[in-house]
Amino acid sequence: MDVILVTGGAGFIGSHACKALARAGYQPVVFDNLERGHAEAVKWGPLEHADLRNDEDLKRIFEKWRPSAVMHFAAYAYVGESNLDPLKYYENNIGGMTKLLRACIRFGCEKLVFSSSCATYGTPDTLPLTEKTPQQPVNPYGYTKLVAERMLNEVERAHGIRHVSLRYFNASGADPDGELGEAHDPETHLIPLALFAAMGRVPSIKIFGNDYATPDGTCIRDFVHVSDLADAHVAALDWLGRGNASHSFNLGNGRGFSVAEVIRTSERITGLPIKVENASRRPGDPPKLVSDSTKARTLLKWKPRFPDLPDQVEHAWNWYKNSVYPVR
Ligand code: UDP
Repeated sequence: MDVILVTGGAGFIGSHACKALARAGYQPVVFDNLERGHAEAVKWGPLEHADLRNDEDLKRIFEKWRPSAVMHFAAYAYVGESNLDPLKYYENNIGGMTKLLRACIRFGCEKLVFSSSCATYGTPDTLPLTEKTPQQPVNPYGYTKLVAERMLNEVERAHGIRHVSLRYFNASGADPDGELGEAHDPETHLIPLALFAAMGRVPSIKIFGNDYATPDGTCIRDFVHVSDLADAHVAALDWLGRGNASHSFNLGNGRGFSVAEVIRTSERITGLPIKVENASRRPGDPPKLVSDSTKARTLLKWKPRFPDLPDQVEHAWNWYKNSVYPVR
């Protein structure tokens, strides 16, 4: 069985990718420092509690498992935090990845699927965003993802490591079987916070800006189910496994929903009222982000199973109602 090293495999998207890998016949091995991940989310293979910034950890784990490929999720991913402490982001997202790539070169692991982001595009002039849209990030988090993509291109030219960069739009939902879900601390994302407001875990949800140039004045985002993201990672791995060239792909559903629509959908799915407060705009929020994912659909044959917002909200709601990870 092919061993795939999954950095950040105890996190939200990484844990779902492990499930998809196992289902596709791969052996995921999770490499995670558990700073932001959850040991309980590692269910489809061993967990190596280790840190990317530690050369000894990398050496030990590459020697032990000899992975045929890496899926690289481990990174900090809060835009606000990246504005307050950019070096923290460069140290982990770029420093850690540099060491990971050194280990890949040293141990002859020549395929890598990278967790990139639509944050690399910044505030685009035209929509929908294609892979050819200029990448002009507007915050340190987005820059680290762009630098990482560039590093991969350069490392391929010098050392022959092929890669796929997957630029996600807004990850949403939870495992439809209820085995995995989202658990960030602090939680900052729209759908989880709307559901927390519905269940009384927080008193209300703030709408960050209702004066954007959009039909209802609130920002518009393209939500993509986490299990569909996971499937795309396996498709990208298979793509590399068939000897194909490195590529970048957008992953979204090509449909935008406004913040107000998301809150209304959350009220409908939960059957509970959600108290809303209007707040000022959050710095660095583009008014509208919608993907064109034709390239992934065509080349990777990626077909999202849960493209509809109500399904995404319902899966997340089932997770929060029934089975969250234990509080540490
Ligand atoms: N948002 C909001 N209130 C919240 C959290 C998010 O109005 O409590 C808005 C945010 O300003 C953005 C959209 O919801 O327009 C999606 O934000 P999120 O943090 O979920 O994802 P991002 O688009 O930043 O990756």
